[in-house]
Amino acid sequence: MKKGKCFLVGAGPGDPGLLTLRGNEVLSRAEVVVYDNLANPELLGLAPETSELLYAGKKPDDHSMTQEEINRLLVEQTAAGRLVVRLKGGDPYVFGRGAEEAGALAAAGLDFEVVPGVSSALAGPAAAGIAVTRRGVNEDLGIFTGHQDPESKEGREFYRGLGARGGTWVMLMGLERLAGIARELQAGGAAPDLPVAVVRRATMGDQATVRAPLSEIAARVAAEGLRPPAVVVFGAVASADHALLCPRPLTGRRIVVTRSRVGASKLASALRDLGADVYEMPMIKREEPENLREFAELVQDAHSYEWIVFTSANGVDAFFEIFYKLYDDAREIGGTKFGAVGAATAQRIKDWHFHVDLVAEEFQAKSLASAFRDYTDVENVKILAVRPAETSGALALELTKMGAIVDEAIAYRTRPETEDRTRARQRFEEEGADLVVFTSSSTVRNFFALKLKMPKGLQFASIGPVTTGTMAEFQVKPSIKAKQHDIMGLVQAISAFYAA
Ligand code: SAH
Repeated sequence: MKKGKCFLVGAGPGDPGLLTLRGNEVLSRAEVVVYDNLANPELLGLAPETSELLYAGKKPDDHSMTQEEINRLLVEQTAAGRLVVRLKGGDPYVFGRGAEEAGALAAAGLDFEVVPGVSSALAGPAAAGIAVTRRGVNEDLGIFTGHQDPESKEGREFYRGLGARGGTWVMLMGLERLAGIARELQAGGAAPDLPVAVVRRATMGDQATVRAPLSEIAARVAAEGLRPPAVVVFGAVASADHALLCPRPLTGRRIVVTRSRVGASKLASALRDLGADVYEMPMIKREEPENLREFAELVQDAHSYEWIVFTSANGVDAFFEIFYKLYDDAREIGGTKFGAVGAATAQRIKDWHFHVDLVAEEFQAKSLASAFRDYTDVENVKILAVRPAETSGALALELTKMGAIVDEAIAYRTRPETEDRTRARQRFEEEGADLVVFTSSSTVRNFFALKLKMPKGLQFASIGPVTTGTMAEFQVKPSIKAKQHDIMGLVQAISAFYAA
């Protein structure tokens, strides 16, 4: 039997970009992922579609798994020979009970590895513009947990000791006990005017920071209704005078990007660059075509065509996935040339390390046919047209009219996505969103077909008039319309809208 292994992976503080490369690498090979509330569920999208996702956090019925149950689960899954990723918020060994999980695996004689993560203890302050060891302001740093009750004897002694010790401290957990903790820190000797900053949901779209002197911080947090998770920084570096922030235009905006599971995430990453908290909602997925054997036979004979033309990025993937199952050498394609409808399709061909000989910039099959007309004579030229089952064979028809000998390859079927592996739908309904971005009519239809509960104040953005027209069928108007009808144009329009 295959030997199992468990990776305790630090998921970082929330922003999916703060997962380590090593974490990403093991996640992409996971057979089982065990996760809970603190890890950003967006990261589950990095695990293979075939992997099993096990939730170990608070359930709707409020029954959370006990630590013993989680330990047992990890041991069982690993002992069964599987590659298990235990995804933990921040760093696995910083107040995360990762040590107990590693201990249980070690005691059972199982293989495990810790993949350290970016802890909220450091990332939280940094994301709020606090340099925790700023030269000339602070020379030491401590991290403590606020889980002890400041009303108990042990708690009192603990917090008073920290107050007497002085220096800069970062507190994890314990936000709800902040009043008592602040009182005991002062009783221990901390100055009432010591700067304090509370950073809530650091690195996420709804990150918030509250600053106040030690004697007033608890009242301020209560007044602002700040809820966990939050880190609290006690020390001169927390003063607003030392804040180092360069605001990004989409900071604090929660944006939903609708896409197919195997779609390009260029839009998501461009929005994240501008500071938005993006969650991707997969709408459609690619499935094998009805007649896979027929498609595979056409792929096998690919070298016998002068041209292969693609109408979608998914078609490109479907083609090359089969191609490399049949052949282990790219040269088996022979001297075949490649044509693509749309820049995204062309890019995907390049991603597979092939030159694209002809691109129709406009996303229409007819435009590729006319591009051919300008480029070469296709009379009696053998062409393979690769497409999904759902679209019409318009391209093949046009090329045939021009005298080409065309075979059509049905590469895949598109189906509505029924799973919610990254919990995007759940988050949409429970946590809300500011904006939903539509990049095509089909994403509009698929989105409304989900019949989700719409959060208050939700707005929509549209890439172009066709998409806007489809939105009207669902009685919604975009607040944001791209002037230039492509991804970059859409990002520009969104950014300008929120800047105004
Ligand atoms: N292992 C984690 C900490 C787990 S304890 C780490 O290294 O970050 C849980 C506590 O972490 C929370 O109560 C809160 O204090 C802090 N925390 C985790 N994620 C946070 C975030 N995004 N923003 C602020 N605090 C966070």
